Amino acid sequence: MKSVKFSLTLDSPICCDEEDCSYQENFILPGSMIRGALANLYLSAIGKDQNFDSIFLQENQFPFLFLTDKNGEPGKFAPKTTMACKRKGKEHDIQSYALDLIEPLPPMQCHRKDCGNDLKPFSGYLGPEKENWQIRYTTHTAIHSKTDTALPHALFREMLMEYKSQEKRKVTDFCGYGLLSDQSYFLLKELCKQHQILLGKARTRGKGWGKMSLEEKKPEIARKSLPDKDLFTLHCLSPVILLDEFLRLTCRFVWKGSVLNWKASQNSTSAIRGWNVIQGLPKMEDIAIDLGSVFLFQKEESLKEEAAFARFIEEIEEKGIGERRIEGFGKVRINDSIVIDPKSGA
Ligand SMILES: [Zn+2]
Repeated sequence: MKSVKFSLTLDSPICCDEEDCSYQENFILPGSMIRGALANLYLSAIGKDQNFDSIFLQENQFPFLFLTDKNGEPGKFAPKTTMACKRKGKEHDIQSYALDLIEPLPPMQCHRKDCGNDLKPFSGYLGPEKENWQIRYTTHTAIHSKTDTALPHALFREMLMEYKSQEKRKVTDFCGYGLLSDQSYFLLKELCKQHQILLGKARTRGKGWGKMSLEEKKPEIARKSLPDKDLFTLHCLSPVILLDEFLRLTCRFVWKGSVLNWKASQNSTSAIRGWNVIQGLPKMEDIAIDLGSVFLFQKEESLKEEAAFARFIEEIEEKGIGERRIEGFGKVRINDSIVIDPKSGA
């Protein structure tokens, strides 16, 4: 498998279903949307051939895409241990409460001179990626075919995500890292070169047109460990769906048959809804640990040796953890530097 960077630049605003827009409100495109768009493109350009199932249903990981930062890399979304000034947010001060997971910290205050307000949890991009983007709502109504008048009961609203500045973009709009087999990479890269891609809803009304490009590349990762080397943090870069043997939601991280030694966490959960186009039915609802959640674990004996720990990091970060990894769920990062030092991501 290859680590592949997916980059997307939009030609028109993306339209999202409001029922299912918890990520989109934060300018994050879920992996299921990326997979769906590429599958649609594949079907219209090539048709359903013998490779379709292995590309879109069996192997590969289609990533969640984030707004691109000024360096052309995925913008860093704040881990749940991030706190910012209560009054002025990240413009004033941004700090990490990760050490609070080990031992309760006293309340901290904004470091900005003449402010000194308390800190409160911060959610969103650590950098300025969102500045040129906006959410807009449009309202539509269905037309009654016999009378040619608006149907008052068929009023619906759609959410649009769009680039608001007239300035030309210096970098792509969205990007993220996924995993593709050699054959999938070759086929999808060529498809994306030749065709525009259509994402989200209202595509026939011209929404969600864009250009995607794929490049074989590994993400650059900055790590920072905790002062106590026997502990490590796990940061959920995408929502993680963990089920126990009875298919119930669990927060137990099982790696190679053994349960990671959980110490503390800062996490939340949400329902994941979706629509299966092929079946024309809603997808089964899953409960996921939210993106940005942070878990603190104690190394067990087998991970204390440096080489073994490095191997563990490499494998868990490449493979991911839990269910629906083909849709980009379950991407995690060990000892991510922005958990300890969120400023490094800004
Ligand atoms: Zn302040």
